[in-house]
Amino acid sequence: MNTRLLGPGDAAAAAEILKSGGLVAIPTETVYGLGADGLNTEAVRHIFEVKGRPQDNPLILHVADAQALERWCRDIPETAWELTRRFWPGPLTLILYRKPCVPLQVTAGLETVAMRCPDHPLTRQVLQMAGVPVAAPSANLSGKPSTTTAQHCIHDLWSKVDAILDGGPCRVGVESTILDLTVTPARVLRPGGVTLEQLREVLPDTELDPGLVKPGETPKAPGMKYRHYSPQAEVRLLRGSSAQFADYVRALPDEGTAVLCFSGEEENFPGKRVLCYGSEARPETLSAGVFDCLRELDTPAVQLICAHCPSEAGVGYAVVNRLKKAAGGKLICL
Ligand code: AMP
Ligand code: MG
Repeated sequence: MNTRLLGPGDAAAAAEILKSGGLVAIPTETVYGLGADGLNTEAVRHIFEVKGRPQDNPLILHVADAQALERWCRDIPETAWELTRRFWPGPLTLILYRKPCVPLQVTAGLETVAMRCPDHPLTRQVLQMAGVPVAAPSANLSGKPSTTTAQHCIHDLWSKVDAILDGGPCRVGVESTILDLTVTPARVLRPGGVTLEQLREVLPDTELDPGLVKPGETPKAPGMKYRHYSPQAEVRLLRGSSAQFADYVRALPDEGTAVLCFSGEEENFPGKRVLCYGSEARPETLSAGVFDCLRELDTPAVQLICAHCPSEAGVGYAVVNRLKKAAGGKLICL
């Protein structure tokens, strides 16, 4: 397939491709999405095929504004409107009951549907122009780290999709928070760009899904049970001080070992491949950098990635969640 690389002036072209059943990688503030017309079941099927995505892993429907919820969802609780007023457009996905017009191909057979209004000016333009809800999972090959730049999308999807819309690097860098509003109290199924503390300012009794807190339990968001965000190399997630982390890493062979550290720690690992993914004191820099670094280290020369685990404050909670997934669920305390 001939893939077109589109830019900031091309919102109308991207919308046309979506309307005619094509696939477009679209920029959002979280990660890039692999978008298709969510009402076109053939186009939706194509998303699963291109990503190699398991059939039971549902997609998120992206809409231009909160009013769109009425068209695609039923039994919408008042809390949904309170949340959209505070957090939309933004990195919050709401799970609500679907209306019959939402294809089961999008929801993987579920009676619920995931809804989000992304906060990226270019993609909001595309959504408005397309006039359809856009189904989009992250724009990476299934299992691989998510894409946060157009270059990443080119790497994974060139010649497999109709277009890639370059909207620059993603500001947040990890996927949206998924909040289930079909249960009481509301439950976070996946941590992301909107933190639990922020949600509790609006809904004080919001809970974390037991699968996020209890080892051995599987989170309810169907996608979370799969191996995810993983480069070829083994990822080892390590919690401890800078000195403890440096001691652990220094004992490993230089060849084949890469280090994912915080800014200021780069000099501690002479002889090793080192990438700094952000500042420990500013978790939003870690979320913005984590997937880019994991992808850069996804080469045959790297067999082991030692990642320094950040604190779980703010968006750090989502960063730890993604790194833990990449590390096969294991966190090593030094
Ligand atoms: P991705 O966009 O690739 O991060 O995948 C979307 C995520 O949303 C996956 O983890 C899905 O399991 C989750 N998701 C989508 N629809 C639903 C739903 N109806 N209920 C629970 N989780 C959902
Ligand atoms: Mg994904």
